Amino acid sequence: MDTQVNIESISEEIVEKNPGEPEFHQAVREVVNSLGPVLDKHPEFVKEKIIQRLCEPDRQILFRVPWQDDEGEVQVNRGFRVEFSNALGPYKGGLRFHPSVYLGTVKFLGFEQIFKNSLLDLGIGGGKGGADFDPKGKSDHEVMRFCQSFMTELYRHIGENTDVPAGDTGVGPREIGYMFGQYKRITNKYETGTFTGKEVAWGGSPVRFEATGYGCAYFVQEMLGTFDESFEGKTCVVSGSGNVALYAIEKIHEFGGKVVACSDSGGVIRDDNGLDLEKIKQIKEVERGRISEYTDSHEDASYEEGGNIWEIPCDVALPCATQNELQESDAGTLIENGCIAVAEGANMPCSPEAIQAFLEANVAFGPGKAANAGGVAISALEMQQNAGRQSWSFEYTDQQLRETMQKLHATCRDAAEEYGVPGNYVSGANIAGFIKVARALVAQGLT
Ligand code: GLU
Repeated sequence: MDTQVNIESISEEIVEKNPGEPEFHQAVREVVNSLGPVLDKHPEFVKEKIIQRLCEPDRQILFRVPWQDDEGEVQVNRGFRVEFSNALGPYKGGLRFHPSVYLGTVKFLGFEQIFKNSLLDLGIGGGKGGADFDPKGKSDHEVMRFCQSFMTELYRHIGENTDVPAGDTGVGPREIGYMFGQYKRITNKYETGTFTGKEVAWGGSPVRFEATGYGCAYFVQEMLGTFDESFEGKTCVVSGSGNVALYAIEKIHEFGGKVVACSDSGGVIRDDNGLDLEKIKQIKEVERGRISEYTDSHEDASYEEGGNIWEIPCDVALPCATQNELQESDAGTLIENGCIAVAEGANMPCSPEAIQAFLEANVAFGPGKAANAGGVAISALEMQQNAGRQSWSFEYTDQQLRETMQKLHATCRDAAEEYGVPGNYVSGANIAGFIKVARALVAQGLT
């Protein structure tokens, strides 16, 4: 069968088999659409039905999470863990707690995680989990009771050589701490390697908070370097104001760039003098407030409720908030305004049409699988650190992160060149990530 026809029919089959999961369909399409040249070169991947096998998770776990709120009322949430592929190592991926989480979210994230983790070359498979629980507005005790109930089911499916969860949106060191505590209690094992994203005092990595944001800035710095550019003197916008956005901003400022805007779900702040990161950290990390408060102390800055951050002219744009936050029309505006590089700090923030527009306009584009791999890279390093019962310094860990992102950038760039699409990091990341898993699947027999 003609490769393109084969790819189309595989995509259709997957959409049909997984109804009502548009984000998963989008993630699958993004990968398989890059694979034509790979299938032409490796007919064994077609024969072994590698794509079809990778699109069907090894295991999907759905469970009830009952817990009691502070008023004594019983609450019921739904928990998920999708173990996608352990061809390259134990399942690895975060847990997302957000009211919008459903099976399709976890499957899209888990599917992307297979390739992201493969690209890192650090011996980890792909998985993802979470719950439709909203930690916002809950007391510490409520969050603890939820996490304990969640772990009372999940504990039997995870382990340092089986499946290693971490944080994602809504899950940070507090939640990881409660889950680890319950895991330890049920299993009677002090197995730090079963979780990453722990606090530094008991096995965590010192660069955890900074990892995804720093990693994204490192990746873009490499990408800019391929055409003799750098962050120095560049005007940037970074959507979001969670830890990915905040630490991308920090690193960009260190590299001599100027970030003039960021956002939260309420609106956009713009400060043409360059954002005062310490103030934003104070608002978001200490006071857990809204970024609109920024203008109280910065009179030159403006806040636009419900504003569109992509309308602000910039050289580099980093979508670091959430999936599908940057659409085709936004891509058009950024291109018109002379933007030269875009990289996804969040998972799948750009729509397929937006990505296509960037590629056609020759904007350097770093897909999330590569550009936001810093978070899970630090997780893999945390696993190494735990296995060796060591504690690493911030500087040493950050240096490891930077080298890992440089290597990952080179892997994507080289794969794109080898398969005839130079400069296309979307194809480069998908191809390099896929080939490694595919080879392992062929070698390991029909599983
Ligand atoms: N949630 C992060 C990601 O999307 C990190 C996952 C991990 O550390 O396992 O890659």
